[in-house]
Amino acid sequence: MAEKNDVRCSFCGRHKKDTQVLIAGITGHICDGCIGQANQIVEEEVSFKKDTAIESSLTLLKPKEICAHLDQYVIGQEDAKKVLSVAVYNHYKRLLQKDDNEEVEIEKSNVILVGRTGTGKTLLARTIAKMLNVPFCIADATVLTEAGYVGEDVESILSRLLQAADFDVASAERGIVFIDEIDKVARKSDNPSITRDVSGEGVQQALLKLLEGATVNVPPQGGRKHPEQKMIQVNTKNILFVCGGAFSGIEKLIERRININAIGFSSAEKDVNKGEENLLKYVNPQDLKDYGLIPELIGRFPVLSFLNPLEKETLKRILVEPKNSLVKQYIKLFKIDDVELTFNEDVYDFIVEKSIEMKLGARGLRSICEAILNDAMFELPSDEKVKRFELNLKYAREKFSKSKISTLKVA
Ligand code: ADP
Repeated sequence: MAEKNDVRCSFCGRHKKDTQVLIAGITGHICDGCIGQANQIVEEEVSFKKDTAIESSLTLLKPKEICAHLDQYVIGQEDAKKVLSVAVYNHYKRLLQKDDNEEVEIEKSNVILVGRTGTGKTLLARTIAKMLNVPFCIADATVLTEAGYVGEDVESILSRLLQAADFDVASAERGIVFIDEIDKVARKSDNPSITRDVSGEGVQQALLKLLEGATVNVPPQGGRKHPEQKMIQVNTKNILFVCGGAFSGIEKLIERRININAIGFSSAEKDVNKGEENLLKYVNPQDLKDYGLIPELIGRFPVLSFLNPLEKETLKRILVEPKNSLVKQYIKLFKIDDVELTFNEDVYDFIVEKSIEMKLGARGLRSICEAILNDAMFELPSDEKVKRFELNLKYAREKFSKSKISTLKVA
């Protein structure tokens, strides 16, 4: 047996006196140097395994399968679903492509979705991210300003993504970012030189860098950059950006363009029915430019699609059909208290009508259901005798009229 003061590291053989720390195990010792090295090997190994795991988890669903998955959660919006499925499929094909110096490089397929608020833009992006099991965050373009001005720096978008990825940079670098209200950073006037447009064109310029793929210094806690805050470097090359915006009033620009085309040239779109509701289906990059997005930014969004306004029938389906529809959620909530909840068909129509009347769209369905069911959800858990609860029109009307939401005035 070794003498007590002749203890050595069992890995490198260094003598105790030549090390800073020597830790004893059951049958051997390890020095601080070997611990450091071993730690590095472990980190490399784990990160390699993680990369391979991420890659293999990306052996992706085909566009039709992605679309079928979206169908379970998002009602209607067929065009957007189709376009998004292909964009996501191509994006992840690009990620799986081995770096073999091939001449053909597949470019990123960032997506821009145009449609009124509450029609499912965020829901589409969120559902895709969940399906792919990649980090996902929502950023609001309205709070962004050009660096140095009051508001949030554009980089703060990536702070959210990092937070969603538990600060795992590699995983964040494959995530999806949804930027809402992108129309709010449209250039305010055609002549940008008069006043500085810090929340409009300035932000668009700043966004360009993120979208095209660059290594960006990200403040981990978001907000403004502080010189004393330690930055995390994130490469945006493989992050998929999906932007959404209502672009209110863009229909006029579309109509004008189509009419001009129809006079001068034979246009495929000249059969546009003037009274037709949704002109958005003809939206093209030119309209976004006319609206005030700069051409460079539009160029970073090769994929453009639209969402239809939600009509009565669609709203009704949204209430009932999706995998986690509101109706299914309430049934589950009641079931936990051993109560079987059923809805009469006419209650659905009532909820949808009220939502339309109040111009609340799909977002309103939930508030109306809450208003109707709140009393029942308050009473029933304490009443063990009740095992069934049938929600009929009379009850729904009565509860709704007594609720605060029924007093909402519509402008
Ligand atoms: P936005 O277009 O403003 O991003 P959201 O995606 O946030 O709208 O939609 C708001 C809510 O309305 C969603 O959480 C969802 O419950 C519901 N919703 C909107 N559109 C649809 C749809 N097409 N299918 C299913 N639910 C929808």
